Amino acid sequence: MTAKKFNPVTKQVLSRLCEAVGADNVRTDREALEIYGSDETEDFVFPPEVVVLPTDADAVSRVMQIAWEEEIAVTPRAGGTGLSGGALPLYGGIVLAIERLDRILEIDTDNLMAVVEPGVITQELQEAVEKVGLYYPPDPASRGSCRLAGNLAESAGGPHAVKYGITKDYVTGIEAVLADGTVVHHGGKLLKNATGYNLTQLIIGSEGTLAVITKIYLKLIPLPRYKTMLLVPFPTLESAARTVPAIMNAGITPAVLEFMEQDAIRISERHLSISIPNSDAAAQLLIELDGDDEASIHHLAERVCEIAMEQGASDVLLAESSAKQQELWNMRRAAGEAVKSLSVYKEEDTVVPRNQIVPLLLGVKEIARRYGIKTVCYGHAGDGNLHVNILKMDMSDEDWKNNLDPAIVEMFELTVSLGGTISGEHGIGYSQKKYLPVAFSPEEIDLMRRLKAAFDPKGILNPGKILPDPEPS
Ligand SMILES: Cc1cc2nc3c(=O)[nH]c(=O)nc-3n(C[C@H](O)[C@H](O)[C@H](O)COP(=O)(O)OP(=O)(O)OC[C@H]3O[C@@H](n4cnc5c(N)ncnc54)[C@H](O)[C@@H]3O)c2cc1C
Repeated sequence: MTAKKFNPVTKQVLSRLCEAVGADNVRTDREALEIYGSDETEDFVFPPEVVVLPTDADAVSRVMQIAWEEEIAVTPRAGGTGLSGGALPLYGGIVLAIERLDRILEIDTDNLMAVVEPGVITQELQEAVEKVGLYYPPDPASRGSCRLAGNLAESAGGPHAVKYGITKDYVTGIEAVLADGTVVHHGGKLLKNATGYNLTQLIIGSEGTLAVITKIYLKLIPLPRYKTMLLVPFPTLESAARTVPAIMNAGITPAVLEFMEQDAIRISERHLSISIPNSDAAAQLLIELDGDDEASIHHLAERVCEIAMEQGASDVLLAESSAKQQELWNMRRAAGEAVKSLSVYKEEDTVVPRNQIVPLLLGVKEIARRYGIKTVCYGHAGDGNLHVNILKMDMSDEDWKNNLDPAIVEMFELTVSLGGTISGEHGIGYSQKKYLPVAFSPEEIDLMRRLKAAFDPKGILNPGKILPDPEPS
């Protein structure tokens, strides 16, 4: 990290912050600095100098005005579940935690829209709209603890993206606070908007580096009435991966099409103390089908079974009861945490066109073999999004240090050569920024730097994220 100069949070700044948001919403105790100094990315810890927890958008604006005048670094934070270190306050300064802005402001059943504050927990919105027969599909596996602004800022996906799309596809407008405290609005309860630059979509995925999101307009859809789930074991990684485009080519779009290799299933089984059928298979696909007509869902399930068998599946487990479906979901959602509990690790979030998932998977395994490192792969195969977990296990510290980076670069070069890119949904943040040049030319990165400078000329908003550190001159 190159040294960048920001001013410290002095006693005088603290008292200004207390005045801006109320003393109860300012924390400098050791516990807070520890909690807000890390997220779910590896074991990084960067304690801030102060944590502010505004309770309304005006207070966010006042905090940014102070930070702007005093030239203090500000790191926005939502649920702290990020996997690329986006919420880490690399330069200390202020963590601007939006968790107390957590009200669902409106569920508009005429326009099929929700208006929310940025700190609403994703699952809480999903449950609230389901009560009125509506559906908000984007569902990162962390949906019980991540917050909507974090989902927007990372352009989060999730298992249902294959049929329903990702967070960005549901955002029709935002209110946001710029680095100097100016409040801006864009979009609203609009399904169409061809008016000027699309600031909403520009701020989505910008990982808190361009603006602080303070209100969100989200599109909702009718809740599908029926769903069923299949767990399909395969004797080889190839046959499992090959089945993904085969299902889609047959004109079937499952609501979920997830891939887990044997190690991922076994590790999750152990982590949760459960037993999953056929866990000795090389890989399994977890497939959900949904719709409004029960008979047609059953018909589709039969067709998916046939296709899977043609591709070499050894069995098909049909999970029709919601208890069984929940158990399979728990197993899939636990995979990340289970891997993390096993070893020092690094998680990659490769994405390729769906029909390139076989060469990606086999190529990753070949690179890992050559470097003598263990990988555990799972992910949203229907989206071509493969999470590659690289585990240190009992590798020596020196070999880990020497082999990890070149192996990752090779994996990313392979991903890009297959028409893919280096993050599908977890973002670049802190931990991935050094790899950005694998995905973009110097000219493209320079354009991003100019964009950042236009939004935030003093560079105080989430400094040290996304853009690689400039070469020392
Ligand atoms: C077990 C587990 C499973 C996961 N599964 C998935 C998955 O299936 N799909 C997926 O996409 N991700 C997944 N993730 C990653 C993570 O949950 C997502 O990236 C999520 O969107 C982060 O949301 P958050 O609320 O935790 O944000 P945080 O981690 O707090 O912040 C993320 C980024 O958002 C910025 N930010 C926060 N608030 C604001 C704001 N108000 N305005 C502007 N920027 C802001 C931060 O600065 C940071 O850059 C998983 C993580 C875990 C731990």
